[in-house]
Amino acid sequence: MTEGTQRMGEFELIARHFQRPARPGARGVTGDTAIDAAHAAEAADGLRPRVALGIGDDCALLAPTPGQQLAVTSDMLVEGRHFLSTVPPARLGHKALAVNLSDLAASGAEPLAFTLALALPRADDDFLAGFARGLFALADQHGIELVGGDTTAGPLNICITAFGQVPPGQALLRSGARAGDDLWVSGRLGDARLALEAFRGEVRLGGAEFEQVREAMEQPQPRVPLGRALRGVATSAIDLSDGLVGDLGHVLTASRVGAVVEADALPRSEVLARQPVALQRQCVLAGGDDYELLFTAPPAQRGAVEAAGRQARVAVTRVGRIEAGTGLRIVDAAGRPLDDAPWRGFDHFA
Ligand code: ADP
Ligand code: MG
Repeated sequence: MTEGTQRMGEFELIARHFQRPARPGARGVTGDTAIDAAHAAEAADGLRPRVALGIGDDCALLAPTPGQQLAVTSDMLVEGRHFLSTVPPARLGHKALAVNLSDLAASGAEPLAFTLALALPRADDDFLAGFARGLFALADQHGIELVGGDTTAGPLNICITAFGQVPPGQALLRSGARAGDDLWVSGRLGDARLALEAFRGEVRLGGAEFEQVREAMEQPQPRVPLGRALRGVATSAIDLSDGLVGDLGHVLTASRVGAVVEADALPRSEVLARQPVALQRQCVLAGGDDYELLFTAPPAQRGAVEAAGRQARVAVTRVGRIEAGTGLRIVDAAGRPLDDAPWRGFDHFA
């Protein structure tokens, strides 16, 4: 870019906030044969460096495990549309990466690295420091590096592209659900939507309640370990970003099947469970911003799914069933059908 980030120049901004010393797990090719040989030995152990060249050149160079497929995903966050101006910068940094890692999780991929394209109204050091802190805290949890990006002046807009790897044929897809499969979700749904309603003044929550649901909205935890543990177990998966009804619809379309979902079986927090039933259903069925995994598996795999949940330390709940034919039926605890019209998914252009 050239059109000024004013006082702090573009390159100074990148160097100050986004360029970090080489870290374990992301060791470059050093040219020192002894060190490079040690890295090669690590590679044989599965502790191999995934990044051969990071920030600073025209391209970054990634070193996926030979033979694995590269999994690539991008997500853009726009102020006012995907986040409120009230979000603390560190949480924004976390969320910008989390939504991308959630896509890798849904594919069963192991994260390798990511890039960051940023448009900023001005080079605000406090904002950037907080943003980078949240971003790198999550990156470190997953052992991945920021390897490049682009920086320009403009309305606040954050686009991350994340790269992962997965053994050929083992990626979890939307198209694999089969009639008779169980339908599962991870974690709990609806808190992010409840937080949004509270921010809009539609719902009143106590201080601690508000903080809890606000954290769900601003700091979602991408289910990367669960996604990996579900390889070979789940028949299909998607991450929930636009609300369960809409996102499940993508799985049903891709898999050419139907489903029944028991609305009252959808897992929710105690805070949400204290709200009126209609609002609870709205939040868990059409909330959006949950970043939990929705996946299918044959009933014979129930034990394996529960083991995957334990291994990944996240709750997994059976919430319905895949059926032959098409269409989604939503039922209450007594099996009575509920009208799904109010809960169709979010579409930016609809
Ligand atoms: P180019 O003009 O060759 O595309 P730039 O001058 O835009 O490269 O960027 C210089 C270096 O800084 C590149 O390695 C690029 O990937 C990296 N970079 C630019 N913006 C960011 C950012 N927001 N985060 C991380 N790396 C960045
Ligand atoms: Mg270049």
